[in-house]
Amino acid sequence: MNNNKRNNPSPGAVSQRIAVSRRIFIKGLAAGSLSFLAFGENMEASVGRGRNKEGSEMNDSRFLRRGVVLILEDLTLTDWPERVKNAKLNTIALHDAKSPRRVVDFVRSEAGKTFLAKCAKLDLAVEYELHAMSELLPRRLFDANPGFFRMNDAGERSPDANLCIHSKQALDIAAENAVSLSKVLCPKTGRYFFWGDDGQSWCRCLKCRSFSDSEQALILENHLLRSLKKGNAAVQVAHLAYSTTLTSPKQVMPEPGIFLEFAPIQRRYDVPLNDIANRQHLDALDANLKVFGSKGSQALEYWLDASLFSGWKRPAVKVPFKEEVLRNDLSSYAKRGVRNITTFAAFIDAAYTSAYGDPPLSEYGAALMASE
Ligand SMILES: [Zn+2]
Repeated sequence: MNNNKRNNPSPGAVSQRIAVSRRIFIKGLAAGSLSFLAFGENMEASVGRGRNKEGSEMNDSRFLRRGVVLILEDLTLTDWPERVKNAKLNTIALHDAKSPRRVVDFVRSEAGKTFLAKCAKLDLAVEYELHAMSELLPRRLFDANPGFFRMNDAGERSPDANLCIHSKQALDIAAENAVSLSKVLCPKTGRYFFWGDDGQSWCRCLKCRSFSDSEQALILENHLLRSLKKGNAAVQVAHLAYSTTLTSPKQVMPEPGIFLEFAPIQRRYDVPLNDIANRQHLDALDANLKVFGSKGSQALEYWLDASLFSGWKRPAVKVPFKEEVLRNDLSSYAKRGVRNITTFAAFIDAAYTSAYGDPPLSEYGAALMASE
């Protein structure tokens, strides 16, 4: 999501040109048969809600999860956890544009342990939102097993991105690696975000090509979910509706435990989500909610994403924050039953606060806590 492959957006312009680079996928389904056409209610998240201080705060708000998504470099602003707590947010998600492995290395490091301990002390949940495909299906397997990988539009198998969702072995390897990763990156919320490659296509082989990218991603997500549930029946796996997977799936249904994560990166931020200029995104949200239900759903927004507004190039520009847009957007989400809200805040780091002072985090938190 914070990838230098992403094209430069023009958030205030008439057409936002974030090309198709910043896509995310997260999907899943069982291989080999149409048994993946399962139905069911999504389960609500998770551990400890309503049983501790955090739970009490969550139930007092329109929104249960109130978070920010940060990249590791943002932690040069060392008091991010305190800032999040003071703004009445309850969740920090870590993201890395390059590799999930960097996040794994971080949480195992002394700095990572200190960060996690501080968050725990402040009752903040830490989650991990990652383009995880290179970890789930290592590219080095390609030479011996090209059939695990996607077929591109030229009809060639390629290790460039994602996988072939009709390869049972590929799905099983991905699930096994997801289980391993979940033991290191284990949020107490029980929510996992194993996204597909950012802005990349899925498989075009004869078996896969009749499934949309959203459907292929959901096939994988359903498969990952089944394996993760063996360790903890309450886990949830995100389906990222974003860029090429913004369109709702039709032939594949989410299994219980899959929740919608809606990330409208290509929308405009100078006007609200319900403005005519953003109609395509709101329509996509509504279509997805019909498939996934609102329970457990999350908006992954960009209101504080200095990286997006900077075209993913440093130095960062000041976030063109519009509180009235944020509040209007929150109403749009709340009225649809979306109760988990987070925003990228990438590039808000020590250099950012030196240049521009405090980011509008308290305004963001206050809007989330407001009754409407
Ligand atoms: Zn395929």
